[in-house]
Amino acid sequence: MSQWCNFRQLLGRHQLRPTTLRLRVLEILGAAPQALPVQKILALIRTERSVNKVTIYRILGDFCNLGIIRKINPEGRSTFYELACEHHPPHPHFQCRRCGEVQCLESISLDHLCEELKEVLGPGALRVEIRVEGICPKCQALTPKKV
Ligand SMILES: [Zn+2]
Ligand SMILES: [Zn+2]
Ligand SMILES: [Zn+2]
Repeated sequence: MSQWCNFRQLLGRHQLRPTTLRLRVLEILGAAPQALPVQKILALIRTERSVNKVTIYRILGDFCNLGIIRKINPEGRSTFYELACEHHPPHPHFQCRRCGEVQCLESISLDHLCEELKEVLGPGALRVEIRVEGICPKCQALTPKKV
């Protein structure tokens, strides 16, 4: 997913030093097929080195403020994070009502909608979040068929 991203350059563009930990967080988010909760990011980094939770929260917070990554707040679940660089434009997310899983719908572009919103709201409109709710295919398959 991150085959086009150059994380060192990305950090450089935002005047951030490419520390091992910052790069690792971006690599993890880039390699994930979907958005990740902080617990997952932390667990992956902790398989390699010991790291303070606060440090990871600070890195994620900085990245969010700079628009390098974006937050997704699924209902009833902790915050998820994903890359927000030019290769990963805003897209809707699908959340399953049964298992709570969050899926990225990257094939659906929100560019058009973002432009239209900016026309109405001006440059003050910074972020668009669309969450689609339903039952995922996995949970649909588990539902016993009515006779
Ligand atoms: Zn990128
Ligand atoms: Zn489900
Ligand atoms: Zn996503």
